Amino acid sequence: MDTSAQANPQLRKATAERKQQPGHRCLGRQRDGNYALSVGVPTGCFNAEQLRSLANVIERYGKVGHLSTAQSVIIVGIPAADFYQAKLAVLDAGFEVRSVGRDVRQVKCCPGADFSPFGLQSTFPMAEELERTFRGLPTPVKFKISVSGCPNCCANTMLNDFGIHGMVDGWKIFAGGKMGTKPVIAQQIAESVASDDVAKYLAAVLRVYEDEAEPKERLAATLARVGLEQFTSKVEAALNTPYDDLAQAAQQAREDANACECIGRPD
Ligand code: SF4
Repeated sequence: MDTSAQANPQLRKATAERKQQPGHRCLGRQRDGNYALSVGVPTGCFNAEQLRSLANVIERYGKVGHLSTAQSVIIVGIPAADFYQAKLAVLDAGFEVRSVGRDVRQVKCCPGADFSPFGLQSTFPMAEELERTFRGLPTPVKFKISVSGCPNCCANTMLNDFGIHGMVDGWKIFAGGKMGTKPVIAQQIAESVASDDVAKYLAAVLRVYEDEAEPKERLAATLARVGLEQFTSKVEAALNTPYDDLAQAAQQAREDANACECIGRPD
């Protein structure tokens, strides 16, 4: 079996440059010249009707659907001329278009206590709330969130910028994890956190990250530079700041993303 592939330096360079642009982007150019569209599947759950709708979009506009590590469905193989219509079809089917940009990404979660025999906390309502409140918020670099129902961390809690896992007495919270060429394990910043307080921690982490990050710096590097003790104390100091402003900015960013100019849009 030959699995080798020819490098495409121009496309790599163009993609790397595009990733430096601020805010949300849904567009992903493939090696074959077609485009990929990331479809949000909040909590990774869908019913049969939703799956049928998505299948119709894939059949009409793309080649195949691929599950991303963040639990989105990536429709690949969309010709440029069809991209805008494919995006509208995704929105019409009741899904949202996800980002490949510098913002808060879709929240990844495991089945949690609603289904898993090991679950200590319910993950679905938590992931839904965090996603509803913060997804789309512009950040210095991409910002990934993960919710696991117990310390087994099946949703890769400690490989995300902000990760939580359930305990008998609430949630443990971690910050500064990442995958990539140099993976970093997140560090614990709080424990025994009540469900109602998790969003406060996320808001505080996002504020400290925004304040402290060097340009285009992932949270893992910011936290390493600032130091865990200092970072955690700044987060605790920001805990009681209301986060309506962050929620509104995220909401606006999502609306802008859904309405944005797009390739293949008719004049
Ligand atoms: S992290 Fe725990 S609750 Fe979630 S799927 Fe894994 S074992 Fe189950």
